Amino acid sequence: MVLETKRNPTIWKHFDLCLITDNHEMARCNGCGKFMSSRQLDSKETHRTSLPRDQGEKRKG
Ligand SMILES: [Zn+2]
Repeated sequence: MVLETKRNPTIWKHFDLCLITDNHEMARCNGCGKFMSSRQLDSKETHRTSLPRDQGEKRKG
């Protein structure tokens, strides 16, 4: 389940905020699909190394 977030859009435009079964929020990278803790993201810049080079393209699903 993907939630909306009002958090730092500079970071979150590259991630989806997902609610997983344990009522935990996890951030899913749009680039590689990897899950990270949302708190981790708020404190970090991003994990942009694995993002695709064409940043204009958005993929969902
Ligand atoms: Zn990634």
